Amino acid sequence: MSTLPESQDALERYAVIDASAIRHNVGVIADYVRPAKVMAAVKADGYGHGLLAASRAAVDGGADWLGVAHVSEALQLREAGFEIPVLAWLHTHATPFSAAIAGNIDLGVSGWELGPIAEAAEALQAPAHVHLKLDTGLGRNGSPASQWPALFAEAASLQERGVISIEGIFTHLAVADEPDRRETDEQLGLYHEALDLADEFGISPDFRHAANTPAALSRPDSHFDMVRVGVGIYGQSPFADRSSADLGLRPAMELRTSVAHVKRVPAGQGISYGLTHRVDRPTSLGLIPLGYGDGVPRISVDAPVSINGRVYRSVGRVAMDQFVVDLEDEDTNVQVGDPVVLFGGDSGLCAADWGRAAQTINYEIITRIGDRVPRIVVGQSE
Ligand SMILES: *Cc1c(COP(=O)(O)O)cnc(C)c1O
Repeated sequence: MSTLPESQDALERYAVIDASAIRHNVGVIADYVRPAKVMAAVKADGYGHGLLAASRAAVDGGADWLGVAHVSEALQLREAGFEIPVLAWLHTHATPFSAAIAGNIDLGVSGWELGPIAEAAEALQAPAHVHLKLDTGLGRNGSPASQWPALFAEAASLQERGVISIEGIFTHLAVADEPDRRETDEQLGLYHEALDLADEFGISPDFRHAANTPAALSRPDSHFDMVRVGVGIYGQSPFADRSSADLGLRPAMELRTSVAHVKRVPAGQGISYGLTHRVDRPTSLGLIPLGYGDGVPRISVDAPVSINGRVYRSVGRVAMDQFVVDLEDEDTNVQVGDPVVLFGGDSGLCAADWGRAAQTINYEIITRIGDRVPRIVVGQSE
């Protein structure tokens, strides 16, 4: 079932991507939200897992749609042969709308895009498939409520002329990871009003979608026709107070390397740039050959690694290529070459632990693991 590392380089530091975990997670979420459909968010290189491997696994696990931010990401999926519906929702004046329409990619529309999309569709003589994106409170992308009548009127007229086909209406939630906050009720209330208004303009598409992973898992009233789930399919919990295991999800990324150096140091030894840490007793230090050049945040403090089944903590600053852990014993039995796990696998450590150490969240930890870390995909289906 496993694809072994192909090069020595891969063995030095690598992320194991467990495709079977992604399939499992998609299945868990699909069961939970049925009859709503599942769009797997595979933007940003599949949250760092690899666009194509993550997409393959998500589709094998039962995803009905793939979702990306950029048309360029969607085009990569088409070039790789994915025929499943794909939605891309973040555009600029430089976005290749013609290529998107020709590639049968659905386009999120917050307002201004409708003009250039209609122009491209008319030139191609092929209707553009669009999903109207509404801001119900996130204050980010999406059409603000004041613009809805104008947007619906323009979209309805383009649809009547056969220039576009309105496949969906969607919104994005701001605080679904904190299920008790009332702003989610307010957003969903406004979304319902928007759907009623759209209906008055003759717009009643098949795909109404609002939920991200936390909403999919905590707010059945947000499921509508489809959920857009990212972090959950990678086996990460979106909630501060619930683990992956609590949610029945399996983390799909394990970040591994091996100990690059071990040495004894006396009490008072300062560690790494800035000498922000000094050991208060004689000890041994282990060198971990991953740094911010690999996506390990420089800001991390007291971050965990697992070596030979035991957790050690980082000391001093993370550098570009490396950081140091206190092995907590002058006579440590940790040796150069011993396997190191930062998170995932059987380590008992998760990306959220690194998120806590680095003042961020698991999303950012997994997504920013860099190109210098090869992805080794295991657990692929036949
Ligand atoms: C990234 C994204 C999602 C997925 O969010 P998760 O919290 O990772 O499930 C859904 N919808 C939109 C618009 C997004 O940008």
